[in-house]
Formats: sequence, structure tokens, C-alpha cells
Amino acid sequence: MTAKEIRQAFLDFFASKGHVIVPSAPIVVKNDPTLMFTNAGMNQFKDVFLGEAPAKAPRVADTQRCLRVSGKHNDLEEVGIDTYHHTMFEMLGNWSFGDYFKKDAIAWSWELLTEVYKLDKSRLYVTYFEGDEKEGLEKDTETYDLWKQYVDEAHILRGNKKDNFWEMGETGPCGPCSEVHYDSRPDNERAKVSGDTLVNADHDQVIEIWNNVFMQFNRIKDGSLHQLPAKHVDTGMGFERLVRVLQGKTSNYDTDVFQPMIQLIAEKSGKKYNSAAKPGDADWADAVAMRVLADHIRAISFAIADGQLPASNKAGYVIRRILRRAVRYSYQTLGFKEPFFNELVPLLAEQFKGVFDGLDAQKDFVQKVILEEEVSFLRTLAKGIDMFGEYATLLKDKNVATQNSPVIDGNFAFTLYDTYGFPIDLTELMARENGLSVDMVLFNEALQTQKLRSRAATAVDTGDWIVLKDEDAVMFTGYDETESIAHLIKYRKVSAKGKEQYQLVLDKTPFYAESGGQVGDKGELIFPNGEIIEVTDTKKENGLIVHFTNKLPSAPEDALTAIVDASLRNRTNSNHSATHLLHAAMKQVLGTHVNQKGSLVNADYLRFDFSHFAKVTDDELRRIENIVNEKIRENIFLKEERSVVYAEAIQSGVTALFGEKYGEYVRVITFDDDFSKELCGGTHVKATGQIGYFKITAESAVAAGVRRIEAITGVAAENYINEQTKLVQQVKELLRNPKDIAKSLESLMEENNRLKKEIEKSILEKSSGLRDELAKKSQEINSINFIAQRVELPNADAIKTLAYHLKDIVPNLFLVLAAEINGKPSITVMIDEALVKEKGLHAGNIVKELAKEVKGGGGGQPFFATAGGSDVTGINNALTKAKSFVS
Ligand code: ATP
Ligand code: MG
Repeated sequence: MTAKEIRQAFLDFFASKGHVIVPSAPIVVKNDPTLMFTNAGMNQFKDVFLGEAPAKAPRVADTQRCLRVSGKHNDLEEVGIDTYHHTMFEMLGNWSFGDYFKKDAIAWSWELLTEVYKLDKSRLYVTYFEGDEKEGLEKDTETYDLWKQYVDEAHILRGNKKDNFWEMGETGPCGPCSEVHYDSRPDNERAKVSGDTLVNADHDQVIEIWNNVFMQFNRIKDGSLHQLPAKHVDTGMGFERLVRVLQGKTSNYDTDVFQPMIQLIAEKSGKKYNSAAKPGDADWADAVAMRVLADHIRAISFAIADGQLPASNKAGYVIRRILRRAVRYSYQTLGFKEPFFNELVPLLAEQFKGVFDGLDAQKDFVQKVILEEEVSFLRTLAKGIDMFGEYATLLKDKNVATQNSPVIDGNFAFTLYDTYGFPIDLTELMARENGLSVDMVLFNEALQTQKLRSRAATAVDTGDWIVLKDEDAVMFTGYDETESIAHLIKYRKVSAKGKEQYQLVLDKTPFYAESGGQVGDKGELIFPNGEIIEVTDTKKENGLIVHFTNKLPSAPEDALTAIVDASLRNRTNSNHSATHLLHAAMKQVLGTHVNQKGSLVNADYLRFDFSHFAKVTDDELRRIENIVNEKIRENIFLKEERSVVYAEAIQSGVTALFGEKYGEYVRVITFDDDFSKELCGGTHVKATGQIGYFKITAESAVAAGVRRIEAITGVAAENYINEQTKLVQQVKELLRNPKDIAKSLESLMEENNRLKKEIEKSILEKSSGLRDELAKKSQEINSINFIAQRVELPNADAIKTLAYHLKDIVPNLFLVLAAEINGKPSITVMIDEALVKEKGLHAGNIVKELAKEVKGGGGGQPFFATAGGSDVTGINNALTKAKSFVS
């Protein structure tokens, strides 16, 4: 079977068992503060497991793109070294939400593996949870007994809490799980060592392929476990591992999922891929590097396509690091000195056509972003290698003298790691090549300190929910009203960075929770006893709308009135609707390749990031602005459709965003059927006329291939125009009300330039006149030509020029010039080089002495020095004192 057929067979099988096949969620996670990237198929159903949203269907199945490069699941360092952990992989999964449980899950997984896929039963092992006394958890005999119907008892293995009890996080749903492992060793090896001893022992030929989780508990903050009201099944099977066992390979990279990419890399590098290479073999490093590239291009490309650009912090930094790891292998091991990694994108996009189409639709953009990152990292890498070279040479020189054995400072290794993206093994390798070693103790300390610091910065202590009222789903009323009567259904305390806050959930709320770029509403909760609780922000968490407050109500059970700050909301509406008009206008003016890459909408302004490869010209900006304002004047009424079938909406040509998770039913916001139609959950004006006026205030670059427009509307735009008009008025008055301000300013500047030049010229003339005059005043003292004079020159440059001119015509010169520049004393000392040598005179030291007379200081070289001061009355004394240095 080809990979494609294997994937389809999985989905078909579960569809035949009554499962609804759903699309993969984006790899980039929104609305979940505990997770940056999707790392398991169940992530997108977390709200269902937490009981915060009803399930869309009791049974679903899908293939989910997952990324395991940060947090609890981080496989990054294994990738490329081993043959079965990837950064990005597909997790095939089937779910029961309070529907079937262990019996069906186990029966179907066995049926699929042995009857559909026809895997060799003698190579399969399954596990069950052995129980845990400390936790008061019993052995999962139910699972054992179910497996016994199909599997030889020697192939049913006990597993401990680490491998066979699954938990979503520190708190939340959890339960025992049962894994399926496959032994792909050759028969002679299997005869020698029994497979059951190698399960869960990190053997690369005896690997876990599937995990069936049976969620039956909820763990709360104090660590105790409580039975869930409804029991769920959550399974995950690694697609690439499944393909490998079905295609009879011993490495995921030998399957048709990876081979085309590996072959492309091999061909371009002029090297051969040897799948069988072992550590220590000559071609081992090449094999690892090719696997790293073939793997990492997937993680990077899908992250970018789903909206996470490489960046210098948070999730963007995780992506940047993976990219750099790939580029480092491509540069160092495979010998690509020019950007190459980005050239893998088209093949990848082709491979995923029909599976995850978002990549193909954006392949040029994704490739461009990767290329730019590569170019800049290659520069950093070269700089780091230079730095290392210099450091190593210095270190060796120093240690030759002291005869110590040279050790690279761990802090220096850490700088290379942290700033220049050098993995520590690269630094160690380069050290060895130079006969050096690295102080790993110090390096690890620095690494640890950094980790602790970043953990402390993000540490959040979240309390358990205190539930007042059992309510399945919360109702959002904010599309229709900004004031609702509601009840508090639960709340909890959250502390972060020394600040305590409360999170409140209402059964009904007009408060819009931050999403889709629109900020969360602010406002008040008013209680019957007169108490007012301020809502400082509103955010979504999984399925919940969470209101942030600084205190708890004294009578939390009372009915309350939730009131959104309507003035903020109205301005936000204007900016949000204007964003839609802007997006549509940009597609008209710049082209349909323009896609939203990020947006921010608040009461003050709007910010819109979009894919576009060139600066938007002033003319284009003006045209965009014109279209938007025209649409505002047309006063187009909002058409809001709250539940359109997703597929139908797409058919009708709405603008959908990449990396956004849409359900089966979507909300469509239309301003003129022929102009702007977008899938959107935000709040909007009733008619475009309410926006009033739209003004672009800035256009800039944010990243490779991504530009940003900032704009304002309504009162903010009016104020802005008024400010600008006022400014022009002021300038006009300053210019004495000319007809044409620009022309008038231009001629003023021209005149200014001309005058400047004239002044420079006249100063020059004056200083050369002074030269001859001063030369005549020279006194011979001890065969030194001594001049100490006060001069009238307007700046230091003119004095310096004069000094040099004097030196040209007076031999053995000792010159002191004093002047008053802008009311401050200035002293210049110049001494002929010959005198400096013969008599040991030093202009810098002398000027310091002289400066004391004018209450100042200065310094310089032996033959030329200057000083400034604060007391002009001391100038004469300074000049008199000068003589003492030559007599
Ligand atoms: P392992 O112990 O092999 O790392 P796991 O216990 O982390 O696996 P689960 O969290 O149970 O795996 O994930 C479910 C399935 O997803 C696994 O059975 C495996 O087939 C697959 N899988 C997990 N991590 C990866 C990865 N990094 N690359 C490819 N497939 C993976
Ligand atoms: Mg793992």
C-alpha cells in the first residue's frame, strides 16, 4: 500500500464504524495558554474533554498534523538521529465522546491492524496499565481481558504509570492507556531475543505505533482524581510509523512518505543516502543530515503556512531554532554554502496536495520566508565561525605561554549557542578539531540559568474552578447587545508575575473574548447590592469566555448585569469593519496573492499584516484608501450570517484565513456581495457609514514577504487630520502665508544652503588672513617658535584649520589658540612633531593644565589637543600660562 492508500484506509475504516471524518486543526494553537503547537490529535477536542463545549458528533476520526518540539513533548534532539521520531508528523486518531469505550476501541484497533492492514500478529505487542498503589489506581484488568480475546497472553504486557497512564496536563482529564507496539526485527534476531523484552525500551526496531487512551478521571489541583461523568476514547497512531511497518521498512525515512525528499536532497548535495549507516561509519553524518532536512522542512513549512512565522521570541523562536538546526546541517555536513533548504518547499507542497492544501496555496510565500531566514542565518553562522576562530587562536596563544591545556569558557560556548545558534555539539566538534575542549559544567550552568529565568517569567499558578452552577455551554450575546442579565457559573484564581487575578465565567455574556485579532471587551459586572466589578479583559480559553477581574463579587450567586464599555466597543467595531474593507481593497489594488498574516483591532487603531513581496507604493496606498472611503460613503449595510455551512461559504467565494480552525458552520460577514465577504467571528458596524473616515498612517515591513499597514478610523482619523491641518497652518504662518508652501519651503532651504556655503567660505578667508597675521607675532624662545593668541573664529573646525595652516608655514611651532565659541572658552594646542620628540612636550597634557584656567578640561594627542571650559574670563590667564611650558 502507498502512504496515501494507508491514510485513506484508516479514515474509511472508522467512517464505516460510524465516525464523522473531520479536518485537521492548524498546527499553531490559539486560545490555549498552555500550548504553542498542536502535539496530539486530541488537542482540538480539549474543550469537549473538559466539559466546556458539547461534542459536534459522538464519534469522529481524522489525521492531525502534530508538532513535538517544545514543552511536555519535545522530540527535537532525537530527530534525524533515530528513524521514528519526527518534529512534524501525522497522528491518525479516532474518538468517542461519551459513546463507545474500551470494548469497541480495542476490537476495532485489532480489526484494522490485522484484517485491513494485515499486519503479522506474531510481531504485535499490546500493553495495559498495571495500576499504581500510591495514586490508589487499580490495575486495568478490563483492558487486559478484552485484549485476551484476540492476542496471545505472552504478547499482552504490563505497563507502568509513565507509559500507560495518560494525562493532559497537571490537571484535567486523564486515564489508563493501552499501546500497540510492532517488532520489525528479522526472524533470526527475534528467535534470539524475545520481542516482549524490548517493548518501551527505546529499541528502534520495536516501536510504539498506536496509543489508545481511555479517559475516565479528572485530576484537580490538589492531585486527587475524580470519575468523569462521561467516559471518552482518544487514540493516536503515528502515520509515518504505520506506513513504515506496512511497507516492511526498518526506518520511517525509507517509506514513500520521505524517500522523494531524501532523494532530492541526496541528488542536490551530490552525496548518497545510506539508510543503513551506523554511528561511526563514514556516511553516518550525511545520513543524519539528510533525515534532519527531510524532516524539518515539514515542521517549518506547516508552521509558516498555519501562520507562525519565525521570530525572536515565543513560538516564533521555536520555529526559528528548528530552521537553524536544519540550515546548520545543510551548511556544515552537506556542504551547501548557499541557501538550499527553501528549495524543498515545492516538492513538499506537491506531496501534501489533497491532504493539507493550505501549504500548496501558499508555497511561494513559505519558500520566500524560509529563504530570507536562511540568508540571515548563514551570515550569523559565518560570523560565529569567525568568532570561534579568533577565540581559539587567542586561547591557544595564551596557553602556549602558560602551558595549560586549553579549555573554552562555558559562557563563550553559551553565547555561540544562544546568539549564533550553534548547537553545543558543533562547538565541541570545532573545539576538538582545534585541540581544545569545552567547559561543559559552566555551559550547562548558563543554560540552566536561562531556562529557570524563562520559566519564572512565564510561570502561572492556576487554581481549580469553583463551580457555582452546572452549565454545559456559555451563550455569547454580544452580537446583539452590549448589556445582558447573567449568572456567574464558575470562577478561579490565577497568579502570574506576582499579580493575582480572577477569571469569571458567566452563563450568558455580551463580552467579546479576544480572538481573530480583535481585542477582548472591557466593562463592568453590576450586582443587585450595588457592587461593581470591573472587567479588565476578556479572553477565550478552549471553549470558555473568561472575564478577567481584580476581585470577586461578595454575593457571587446573585443575578448580575454584564455591561460592555460601549464606547470602546463601537470604536473597535469601526476598526474591525474597516479591516475587512481594507483587505478587499488590497486584493483589488495589489492582487489576490494578498493574504492576511496577522491583525490587531482595538479601539484606537487597526494593524493589518499581509503577504506581499514589495513595498506598497504611495500611489497604491492612496488608491486603497480611496476605495475604502468610497465604500464607507456608500453606507453599505452589514450582512451577518451566523451559521452557514462551511463548504457552501467557501463555494460562494468568501475569504477564509489559513491557519484558522473553522467548524462545520461558520459566520459570514458581508459588506456588499461583490466586495467583501469574510469568515469572521468579530463584531462590526451596522453600516459602513458609521466608520466615518479611514486613514492609513503607516506602511512597513515586518518579516520576509510580510508587510504591515496601520490605519485609523472615525474620531481618531478626524483628530489626525485636524492635527495635520494645524501643523500645516503653523508652517504656513511661519513662512508668512505663501501661496505655495512647498515651493516656499524649498526656496528657503535653497537659500539656507547657499548662505551656509558663503559663511564657510568667508570663515576660510578669515582664517587664512589670520594665519599671516599670527605668523608675524611668533616669538622665538629656546629655539621654539611660540604663538599664544586669542582669535575670533566661530567654530572649532575653523580654529583647527587655522592651526594646521600655521604649522605649514612656521617651523618648530608651539601654538596655543584661545577663542570664545557660543559664549564658552575653547583652547587649542598644537606642537610640531619634532618638538614633541626632542623636548618631550605633550599637547594633551598641556591643554589639560591650561583648561584649569577656564574651569574646564580636555585632552588629545602629543601634537594636537583641545579643551573646553565654562569661564571665558580665564582665557587671558591661560594664554599667559602657556608661555611657562616653553621657557
Ligand atoms: P514514543 O514513546 O515513541 O515517543 P509517545 O509515547 O510519545 O511515543 P504518544 O504520545 O502516545 O507517543 O503518541 C501517539 C502515537 O504518535 C505514538 O504511538 C506514535 O506512533 C506517534 N508518535 C509520537 N511521537 C512521535 C514523533 N515524534 N514522531 C512520529 N510519530 C510519533
Ligand atoms: Mg514521545
